[in-house]
Amino acid sequence: MKRDFEELRNGPFDLLVIGGGIYGAWTAYEGALRGLKTALAEKGDWASGTSSASSKLIHGGLRYLEHFWLDLVKKSLEERRRLLSLGPHRVWPVRFLLPLYKGGRLGRIRLGAGLSLYDRLGGACSRIGPHRFHSKNELLAIAPFLSPENLYGGFSYTDCETDDARLTLEIVSGALQAGAVAVNYAEAVELLRSGNRVRGAVIKDRETGASVELSASVTVNAAGPWAWQVGGTGKMAGRGARLLKGAHLIMPPLPGKDAVLLTSPYDGRVFFLIPWHGATMIGTTDTDFQGDPGHVKVDASDEEYLLKSADHFLQGAGWDASQIRGRFAGLRVLSGRPGKKPSEVTRDWELWEPEGRLLTSLGGKMTSARIEAAATLDRAAGLIDKGKTRASPTESRPLPWFPEDMNALEEKGRKAGLDPETAVWCGRRYGSSLSGLLDLLKGSPGLAERIDPGFPFCWGEITNAAENEMARTLEDILRRRVPLLILGKVEAETSRRAADLAGEILGWDPETREREAMSVVSWRG
Ligand SMILES: Cc1cc2nc3c(=O)[nH]c(=O)nc-3n(C[C@H](O)[C@H](O)[C@H](O)COP(=O)(O)OP(=O)(O)OC[C@H]3O[C@@H](n4cnc5c(N)ncnc54)[C@H](O)[C@@H]3O)c2cc1C
Repeated sequence: MKRDFEELRNGPFDLLVIGGGIYGAWTAYEGALRGLKTALAEKGDWASGTSSASSKLIHGGLRYLEHFWLDLVKKSLEERRRLLSLGPHRVWPVRFLLPLYKGGRLGRIRLGAGLSLYDRLGGACSRIGPHRFHSKNELLAIAPFLSPENLYGGFSYTDCETDDARLTLEIVSGALQAGAVAVNYAEAVELLRSGNRVRGAVIKDRETGASVELSASVTVNAAGPWAWQVGGTGKMAGRGARLLKGAHLIMPPLPGKDAVLLTSPYDGRVFFLIPWHGATMIGTTDTDFQGDPGHVKVDASDEEYLLKSADHFLQGAGWDASQIRGRFAGLRVLSGRPGKKPSEVTRDWELWEPEGRLLTSLGGKMTSARIEAAATLDRAAGLIDKGKTRASPTESRPLPWFPEDMNALEEKGRKAGLDPETAVWCGRRYGSSLSGLLDLLKGSPGLAERIDPGFPFCWGEITNAAENEMARTLEDILRRRVPLLILGKVEAETSRRAADLAGEILGWDPETREREAMSVVSWRG
């Protein structure tokens, strides 16, 4: 993946996609595979918006059944099954425990019925078994950290986990391989119009300040929470944005490998404890957000809510703010329905055409972004009478970094000097693109060593991110190519070495290296 802003000058394009989150990535990939001349412009790094701040689940959304959003759950579960088979390196099953406490909002009968429906909607899948009931003792044997008081049993069921930022990156890489031009740090600063239709946008290079007037037959606004800033005129102006903040905390590990779904005793909302790279991720909150989407942050009230809610169910974990290792927050875009409680507003995706030939993608889920990008392309193909296909090309196509044999990949990693756990995680994070990293390790054994002994990431990944994955800053590398910054604090010594490795490739002078190093030391989600 090489960044080349100049390629955006090779227009006109059939399709311009603005925004390199998961929706923009799938839309560009789908467009390029359908034979459209496609450009993808992202103003920051790939997945620097919501698509690196999700709960990292590929799931149907069990809780949506409470609201009878059956179509949304069914669509998402079908996509879960598809991604699990097309991207076994990227999406993997995780068991969820659902403890039942006396006086809880949802009792055994209701939950059992919901889980049976969830199993049915999920369809047959060899890697995801049906839900099960567990007695109190069974549940405590699996999850000894749960408070036994008032516990009378619980369920287990299976959903899936991913790495959201790397999923997005992989799809961008697929778009590039399929012939799209994809450039990060390239901002759409103004839409171009001709009569009553949009005909592209002015794209500014945020590294050099240069700009290009990019003409396109159809423009897709996939700017997520920034969609109104990109194209908030026409019909968009009449429908206000509703942004909901969701915060996550990274806490010490809990025993076992299972995730836990709980209901907060304070407001009855569902929240998760999810194992994540050997730590525990708690999330999420759901509060209205006003302000610049670029400034979304976890604040003290988010921390207090999540810690108190979790503490209620954990015996002896004694989590407090001093144990927070990392944090991050993102914004959901919901259709403006101000009267409703956040949790009652549908999470389903919408496609608007607020102006001629401007398609705007709003809301949705990491899980269902592929099928919704395909729907966007069906609509775009109808507008320009080009790129029509009977079935979406991504429907049965393995993900771009699909590995033929995961075990062989891990074995190669070990032979190249990675420790066994790092080899497993590198297999998952890189899939077939692992060879690029392993080539860098040859002759530089120090690069196979862990950056931090607590996490399965190696120094070579820093060089690889700069060399092969279009990373431009140290935050791109340590936050999204390798999720070290969200898992904990990065010390100055580590960040300086990382800045030297990246700086070698990216041509940073000593001053830039120091500035980059210090920017991650002070990073806070
Ligand atoms: C807290 C939380 C938890 C979630 N958990 C899950 C989950 O577990 N599973 C799941 O399936 N879904 C989940 N979701 C939903 C999912 O994360 C989102 O639906 C998805 O990430 C939205 O992607 P997007 O591409 O629309 O937006 P974004 O990822 O925000 O991408 C928009 C991009 O546009 C770029 N941009 C903005 N303006 C411009 C411009 N002028 N020019 C160029 N680029 C621009 C931004 O920099 C950004 O990268 C969660 C959402 C939240 C908020």
